[in-house]
Amino acid sequence: MPTYVFRCRSDCADFIERHSMAAIPDAASCPECGADGRRVIGSPALGAGDSSAMRLQDATRASAEAPAVVSSVPGRGRRATPVSSNPLHRKLPRA
Ligand SMILES: [Zn+2]
Repeated sequence: MPTYVFRCRSDCADFIERHSMAAIPDAASCPECGADGRRVIGSPALGAGDSSAMRLQDATRASAEAPAVVSSVPGRGRRATPVSSNPLHRKLPRA
């Protein structure tokens, strides 16, 4: 259930209540003084777009929609340099 912020008419601190989206009340009673508190429309969390978690999500989505272009088929051709430089490894049987 989403949270909604209410502001008391008697100058108390703002309070938060959870309600279902199907039944959002316009007012709720203040937990401090009991007076009616009107629902406040908050600002959207636009600042989260610059976080590292958001950048990771964007990069993941971009790799699925537009994968990086390669210039050759991966896995073809021999390696230019041997895997091991130890000369004893050359005597091992090849698979
Ligand atoms: Zn109050």
